[in-house]
Amino acid sequence: MGDLRMEDFIRNVPDFPKEGIQFKDITPLLGNPDALETAVKALSEPFRDAGIDAVVAIEARGFLLGAPVAMDLGIGLVPVRKAGKLPWHTYGVDYALEYGSATLEMHQDALKEGSRALIVDDVLATSGTMQATVELVEKCGGTVVGIAVLIELAFLKGRDKLTDYDLRSLIVY
Ligand code: AMP
Repeated sequence: MGDLRMEDFIRNVPDFPKEGIQFKDITPLLGNPDALETAVKALSEPFRDAGIDAVVAIEARGFLLGAPVAMDLGIGLVPVRKAGKLPWHTYGVDYALEYGSATLEMHQDALKEGSRALIVDDVLATSGTMQATVELVEKCGGTVVGIAVLIELAFLKGRDKLTDYDLRSLIVY
């Protein structure tokens, strides 16, 4: 496992879901136990002693990484979902995507006042999704202690809009 390179398990799919997008497919990484374990541990590690109360994971691929990160840190998971999916009372925030726009929602009682949150997702692109999630955490009374993503598309400069936060990415393109 020592010389495993996580980037070897990311498949680049040109023109998906539409022309001009270089889609970063994480299914090879999810399908390999060593790569998956390496990724989960590397996402958790910087925040292991940061007193995190909850992992906030973003639909849908963020769930796949967020849940094992939460288990690794010994804490629970809060899902952030597309509009209309969560059954209880929600807060909502509109956001812009690299491709399209949408609304993200979180249960109003998902975090206790002052909860220290780590947000997890697969890819940081323009960061519209991440900014909306930060806003949701703060609306619910939480504090964003960190942001952990598997992949950062640095050429889109999403990081520049998140300078107030401790953002860690494992693979940078
Ligand atoms: P953004 O809001 O532009 O930062 O987009 C981030 C969200 O869209 C993440 O939840 C990703 O899953 C997804 N996403 C955006 N661009 C890509 C890409 N090139 N490859 C894979 N997923 C992407």
